[in-house]
Amino acid sequence: MKYQQEFRDAGLAHSIVQEIRRTVTRSWVLMEICGGQTHAIMRYGLDQLLPEEIELVHGPGCPVCVTSLELVDKALEIASQPGVIFTSYGDMLRVPGSGRDLFSVRAAGGDIRVVYSPLDAIQIARENPDKQIVFFAIGFETTAPANAMSVLQAKSLGLSNYSVLVSHVRVPPAMQAILSSPYNRVQGFLAAGHVCAVMGYWEYPPLSEQFKAPIVVTGFEPVDILQGILVTVRQLEQGKFEVDNAYPRIVSYEGNLPAQAVINRVFTTCDRKWRGIGLIPASGWCLRSEFSHFDAESRFAVSQIQPEESPICIAGQILQGMKKPGQCPAFGSLCTPESPLGATMVSSEGACAAYYRYSSQAAGLMTQE
Ligand code: SF4
Repeated sequence: MKYQQEFRDAGLAHSIVQEIRRTVTRSWVLMEICGGQTHAIMRYGLDQLLPEEIELVHGPGCPVCVTSLELVDKALEIASQPGVIFTSYGDMLRVPGSGRDLFSVRAAGGDIRVVYSPLDAIQIARENPDKQIVFFAIGFETTAPANAMSVLQAKSLGLSNYSVLVSHVRVPPAMQAILSSPYNRVQGFLAAGHVCAVMGYWEYPPLSEQFKAPIVVTGFEPVDILQGILVTVRQLEQGKFEVDNAYPRIVSYEGNLPAQAVINRVFTTCDRKWRGIGLIPASGWCLRSEFSHFDAESRFAVSQIQPEESPICIAGQILQGMKKPGQCPAFGSLCTPESPLGATMVSSEGACAAYYRYSSQAAGLMTQE
């Protein structure tokens, strides 16, 4: 497959690893932002190929993992109400709230449907005018354009039975929060290529400058990730802290301007709670006031929920690069993909799920294909 297989080329990957080995002279801690990158690193055993001086820690770029427990509990309450069809991406159904998940609500009779696009939810709303259709609008900058489009479409169709439970989060404020923490260990970032495909990378230079940390836009195939690591390590070794693009076949500096326009038409920046991390100022998108009648939180009056997180789960520390999944006492025993205590064990992009799935395998570059 063009633009995929060539970026899984073992010979090319190993030559980049050799170049990394020639470049590195001291220890560096790098964070890959996206959970998709974490899974690729574990799947192909890239961390095992790197010189010991380079430590990869795993960032908060898994939308299912960082959707706040409070929002999950609100989803559970809304989905339990009669006359509601609650629609969501499939990953969210197994995310534990305070004592239950959407699967258990469905088992108890709730009408919960998995959709692949918010536009599927719009279609359900058109077919069920006597029901309230709610879409769980989670995600980073990548899903925001389609979710915003659904609101615009609902408005143009005059749908009064469609609303969105919004949990959108933004990458740059999360990076700022990580770099600002007194416990921060991250010295350079592999930025998420798909987020930058939408947003470009014009938001990153002030961050890189303020915290003196290189930020390198990085893709998702093994060669992409190793190239991103090489570019980041070169900067660190040379004392540079610039924004660089190691994913130019997909990402431009300005990003997808029509997609950004749709986001800005429907959403406005707001503070947002991140699961396990807490409130990060200006890290979310909320509906603009002119679209507030599509806001499920106000339509269903569920704003007073007090959530209870598992006291064992350390996912918040993992998502900030402070700890790794193997350091959690519940990993692989009390907490497994079949019986998850935290969202990072549920999601297909969660770091705990990646460690659980791939750590026991003899993971090696290109042995998985
Ligand atoms: S292994 Fe489970 S309990 Fe531990 S941090 Fe990961 S999700 Fe939380």
